[in-house]
Amino acid sequence: MASQHKTLDDLATLVSLCKRRGFVFQSSEVYGGLNSCWDYGPLGVELKNNVKRVWWDAMTLRDDVVGLDASILMAPQVWKASGHVDGFSDPLVECKKCKSRHRVDKMKDPKKCDTCGSSELSEPRNFNLMFKTFMGPVEESAAVVYLRPETAQGIYVNFENVQISMRKKIPFGIAQIGKAFRNEITPGNFTFRTREFEQMEMQYFVKPGSDDEFMNMWKEVRFSFYSKVGFKMENLRFHQHGKGELAHYAKDAYDIEYKFPFGWNELEGIHNRTDFDLKNHQQLSGKKLEYFDEATKEKFIPFVVETSAGCDRMTLAVMCDAYREELAGEGEDDKRVVLGFHPDLAPIKVAFLPLSKKPDLMDLSHKLRSDLRHFKSQYDESASIGKRYRRQDEIGTPFCVTIDFETLNDKKVTVRHRDTMVQERVSMDQLNLYITEKLKNF
Ligand code: ATP
Repeated sequence: MASQHKTLDDLATLVSLCKRRGFVFQSSEVYGGLNSCWDYGPLGVELKNNVKRVWWDAMTLRDDVVGLDASILMAPQVWKASGHVDGFSDPLVECKKCKSRHRVDKMKDPKKCDTCGSSELSEPRNFNLMFKTFMGPVEESAAVVYLRPETAQGIYVNFENVQISMRKKIPFGIAQIGKAFRNEITPGNFTFRTREFEQMEMQYFVKPGSDDEFMNMWKEVRFSFYSKVGFKMENLRFHQHGKGELAHYAKDAYDIEYKFPFGWNELEGIHNRTDFDLKNHQQLSGKKLEYFDEATKEKFIPFVVETSAGCDRMTLAVMCDAYREELAGEGEDDKRVVLGFHPDLAPIKVAFLPLSKKPDLMDLSHKLRSDLRHFKSQYDESASIGKRYRRQDEIGTPFCVTIDFETLNDKKVTVRHRDTMVQERVSMDQLNLYITEKLKNF
């Protein structure tokens, strides 16, 4: 068992692991890369899909929440009504000396350039974060559409469609995962802040007056989610928005913050958006977006409690949280790097490793892997078994199955556990059950 652990204290270590092991690559790298855009490699896409799956299950395997997948492009009036055309901006200053641009509210000292230290800064101006493009062949103002800066609006404008078609009664929620785009002034910290990202949002429609109660409920539900998927709870905390921090639509807001290697930062927002969005859509569209309560015969515009998490940001937090270096290993070399993912999140669940390149062992390994192909797995026959264990530790594989010479006689394999490094002999015909049980009760 390992004697000492070291957690991640420097993002560069993770960035390099991500590239080396196929989690995340820089976008358009052969052309020198595109600033703040990232591509998920074969293991990254598995991890990110698992993050989405656990979120989707947590949010929709309940009676009161249904799903939606709205389009990215929407009628431009949506963004007028939501306040994004007029109000979705950050204060931007430009350094007259080095020409770098900064978001004033994130500067170390708003009077000094973060890049060169000069105090010759332009007056702050509001910079709208929405990406504009044109619909159809003519580039004219009537054809302007926006890439959505949040997925929430697709939910609001479908509120009635969903409520009626699914015969939902308030309180109920609509969950959605999808891309959002923001022309951020200062993207950075790897995938933490990018201009294209995925959101996992849920809008919960409630009777006005019950909004505070449901805010509390969702705060609890969302916070406990992180412990269920293996986060270390000492790395999470709430931050309540002060008056000056509240978004234009919010009455009350809490961030769930994570302790990233670069400091505490927002992972997910839980917002009381009141009836702001539905009311504005009703006003601008002229379509009633009221709810009729059969029991009390009341008509009202529901209030909304939103939970809004970034999928890329959560995937980054999952990796930061799972990373550890152990200073005493299994003897072969002294250091091992482990991504100690919760098994539901691990991109690869099992690795099949023939002890040597003997055809009998390799054939049997392939056969076993094929029989258990419902587990996402890898096959690896190169290098010493110790090195192969290290490779799997570094990508967070919970179990390695080693097929050795004894296997040919006793029909048993060695299962080696990622975290404890304990090894157990298991009958091949029991392996499926064994791994299924272990993954479930990790
Ligand atoms: P910030 O203050 O960091 O700009 P925000 O308060 O504007 O963020 P929200 O509008 O509440 O963020 O977005 C909800 C979630 O979407 C955030 O908690 C975050 O996880 C994710 N998110 C927002 N902007 C980005 C981005 N540029 N890159 C990656 N994820 C993002």
